[in-house]
Amino acid sequence: MRGATTKNIFLFHLFVSLLLHGGEALKELEEAVASRTLKQEAGRRYEVHCSRERSRAAWKAIEEYLMPFVNEEEYQLPQRCRLHPDNDMFREQELHKVHVDTNEWRCGFCKKSFRAEKFLDQHFENRHQNLLNNSQSRCLADLCGALHCDFIESKKVKTKCNPAAAARNRHLCESLADSCFPLDNDKSASRLHEFFLHQFCDAHTCSRGKKPFSRGRKKELSLFYLAVCILVLMLLPLFYVVAFLHQREIKKRVEVLRRISKPGFKTKPS
Ligand SMILES: [Zn+2]
Repeated sequence: MRGATTKNIFLFHLFVSLLLHGGEALKELEEAVASRTLKQEAGRRYEVHCSRERSRAAWKAIEEYLMPFVNEEEYQLPQRCRLHPDNDMFREQELHKVHVDTNEWRCGFCKKSFRAEKFLDQHFENRHQNLLNNSQSRCLADLCGALHCDFIESKKVKTKCNPAAAARNRHLCESLADSCFPLDNDKSASRLHEFFLHQFCDAHTCSRGKKPFSRGRKKELSLFYLAVCILVLMLLPLFYVVAFLHQREIKKRVEVLRRISKPGFKTKPS
C-alpha cells in the first residue's frame, strides 16, 4: 500500500516537471540536433554521436588560424578551454592516422592499411571505439558555429544570414574567448583575447563585408620549403651571371662580323 503511494507521488512529480521544464528540454534538444545526432541505444542509454568530419573542420580552424598565434605568444591554453587538444574526443585517433601514400592510410594502433581515409575512420569506429571518451564537452563539432566550419569546408561565406543564429554564434564565440584567454591572467592572454575576438567573433554579424579570419593564417615553415627557398636564392645569381656572359659573347660576335663585312662593301670590283 505504502509502495503504491510512493510510486504515485513519483509519477506526479515527473508529470509536473515535464510540464514545467518540457519547453526548455525541447529547446535544448533542438540545439543539440544542429551539430550532432542523438541515438537511442540499448533501451535507456543515450549515446551522443559527435560528427568526426565537423570536428575535423573545427580542428583545422583552430590549427591554422589560432594555434600559430598562441604558440608565438608561448601561451598555454587552460584545460577548461574547449579548444584545448585534450577536449577533442577524436584527437587521439586522428593523431594515430598515418598517411603513407595517396592511396594508403594506416591505423597507428594496429598497423592495418586502408585505401582511403574514410575506411580508416570506419575502422576507428568499429575497432577502437573504446578510445573515445564520449563526454559531451569534448565534441569539437559543437563549436562549429563559432569557429566557422562552413567557411573552412567550402571557403565561401553564406549568402543568407540569420540574425538570431549569428547572435548565438557570437555569444558562443565570446564565451570561448573568455574561458580560453581569461582577462585576469597575464598580458599575452589579454592580447590573445582581443585577437580571438577579431579573428573569430567579429564576423558573426549579418552586416556585409565581414569575413572570418581577418588576421589571416600562419603556416609553420616546413624544412622542405625552407631548403627549396635557399636553393632558389643561391641559383638565381648564378643564372643571371650565365645569362650576362652569354649576352656579352653574342655582342662580341656581332661586332667581329661587322668588322669583317665593312671593308668588303668598300672594295670596288677591278
Ligand atoms: Zn586499428
